[in-house]
Amino acid sequence: MLENALKILEKMEENGFQAYIVGGFVRDYILGIESNDIDICTNARPKDVRSIFKDACLPTEEYGSITVILKNIRFEITTFRKEQSYSNYRQPDSIEFIDDLEEDLKRRDFLMNTLCIDKDGKVLDFFHGKKDIDEKIIHTVGDSSQKFSEDALRILRAIRFATVLNFTLSNEIKESIFKTKHLLKEISYQRKREELDRIFTSVNVKMGVHLLLELGLDYELELPNLDKVSNFDDLIGVWAQLNVSDLYPFTGNEKELIENIQKALSCNNLNHRVLYTYGLYVNSIAANIKGISKKDVTYQYNNLSIHSRGDIALNGDEISAILKKEPGPYLKEILKDLEEKILSLELENDKDQIRAYLVNYYL
Ligand code: ATP
Ligand code: MG
Repeated sequence: MLENALKILEKMEENGFQAYIVGGFVRDYILGIESNDIDICTNARPKDVRSIFKDACLPTEEYGSITVILKNIRFEITTFRKEQSYSNYRQPDSIEFIDDLEEDLKRRDFLMNTLCIDKDGKVLDFFHGKKDIDEKIIHTVGDSSQKFSEDALRILRAIRFATVLNFTLSNEIKESIFKTKHLLKEISYQRKREELDRIFTSVNVKMGVHLLLELGLDYELELPNLDKVSNFDDLIGVWAQLNVSDLYPFTGNEKELIENIQKALSCNNLNHRVLYTYGLYVNSIAANIKGISKKDVTYQYNNLSIHSRGDIALNGDEISAILKKEPGPYLKEILKDLEEKILSLELENDKDQIRAYLVNYYL
């Protein structure tokens, strides 16, 4: 990845521009963590970047950032900028393109995110970001309260980085979070969810949640159940325990899963009917939250006599033939009855047994 990125820098310099790898990639490179994408900063304007990389550019252009895909790697190429006043605690009201790298680095969030690599592969460290990485500590670039007031999402980014990287927050950051945390209310639930998802899926999730609670962010994030979440093995399971799907955005699919997990949580997850109704995935999550082993749930699930209506040994047509009736809505009732009897082991899932039962009770 680095080699390909250096080629991009080279190409931009050949075209007369300065360009550097910046931010997350450099930080993670020093930490020996693999990155998925690479941020590049440059004095080239977006139109120049487009003319250099042509078809490799994606059509969207967000705040003058251009995405270039080369050899399956995603490069986010952003023109050096100064951000003008922030009035909505998230995006600057306007940006001004500039020619100076150091000035661009000042608008960034944390010292560890200001490191750059130039086209020769040399690390440039204007603000001692490397020291923070070595000491596993996070400091803002300049005054923390000001940084968080400009963009309150940085509060969550700080906690997410501390969690994922297992770093500590500087005292100044912690104090500033107390002063500015009410601004989190101004941030969209989508952005908050993205950061929270990364905290909840980190191996250090316990530490992240501890930080959120210690800083009182459960209140600001409207997560009153945060201190009661007992199990973090499954992300959707965490959201089910948080019970905020009327507030935070979820896909239809996720919402359904959350609802089913919540229902399954109130049931006995080794019960045949419950296993059958909600399926293995939902029951495993619910059981796990309650401390029942996945092995037990899986064993009981695999031993169910049927796993769906399609597993019943006779289908609707065969049933109507036995009852000598045209198929019709009455079949639904009969299938429901058979399902119940077979699941509870009152009736064996066997053609002859079911036939005898039908003749006895329905003919
Ligand atoms: P990751 O990609 O793992 O989330 P990252 O540090 O690369 O980490 P990005 O969101 O990709 O984060 O942003 C790239 C760089 O842009 C950051 O390293 C930082 O320098 C700067 N940056 C991103 N978001 C902000 C922000 N909200 N405020 C200030 N600077 C930011
Ligand atoms: Mg990044």
